[in-house]
Amino acid sequence: MNYPEKIIAAVENFRKIPGVGEKTAFRQILGLSKWRTEELVSFGQALKDLATLEYCIECGLFSEGELCDVCRRSERAAAGIICVVESLSDCLAVEKSGQFRGLYHVLGGVLNPLAGIGPEEIGIPRLVQRVQRLGIKTLILAINPSIEGDATSSYIRQELPDDVSAERIGFGMPMGGALEFLDSMTITKALENRKKI
Ligand SMILES: [Zn+2]
Repeated sequence: MNYPEKIIAAVENFRKIPGVGEKTAFRQILGLSKWRTEELVSFGQALKDLATLEYCIECGLFSEGELCDVCRRSERAAAGIICVVESLSDCLAVEKSGQFRGLYHVLGGVLNPLAGIGPEEIGIPRLVQRVQRLGIKTLILAINPSIEGDATSSYIRQELPDDVSAERIGFGMPMGGALEFLDSMTITKALENRKKI
């Protein structure tokens, strides 16, 4: 039998979610089709609103307005320390560990010359300016361990003024791993055991 176009379209969209296969998508969409109209409209609206999500102009974290909750808090800025992460989910994982009380900087990727991702694309010049403007003394490079991650860390070190200390985390982190998949205890250990580069 042929499925209605509306079902097919919904399944195709649902399958774009990582880890969702065709079978799961069908089952979920059939379940959703039984929801009340107002529930479906609200579900659709919530997804639509994601398109207009705002990000902090300073660090790249979620925000409502120009600055995020972290950047708005004076005690976080007063710590004089920035934790540099690859992605928003890594940032949320570090924040959830509760061990870090400074500011963040979300790169949104790592250097990858072959893929055309250079320092500008991941905002390194903006990070360096921010360090100088805020008088930051320490940078924790919580970039995930990989060849590109290590190269990105070295590049950032090289771009920083000499009086700014740059420390790389890594202890307990598997090569190719990501902060977002680690538990808070491992993140805490990785943050405690960092070395100067
Ligand atoms: Zn911010």
